[in-house]
Amino acid sequence: MDLAQFNKLRARSFNEQKALLKKIAKGQTVLCSTCNQAIELNVAVKEGEKAYAKCQKGCTYIELDMA
Ligand SMILES: [Zn+2]
Repeated sequence: MDLAQFNKLRARSFNEQKALLKKIAKGQTVLCSTCNQAIELNVAVKEGEKAYAKCQKGCTYIELDMA
């Protein structure tokens, strides 16, 4: 895979993650595309840790950058 293609893929998945997080933040249920379990937002993390969204099995795991 050449670098330009790699960057394009990364940008696309970043945008998909943003769209996904937006839906969850609105209270909509988003299912993991791998295991079909609901993806849940976890913002109750300790200081210094990042909030994250993940499904029960952990195949979807998105760290939130809310700096
Ligand atoms: Zn999953």
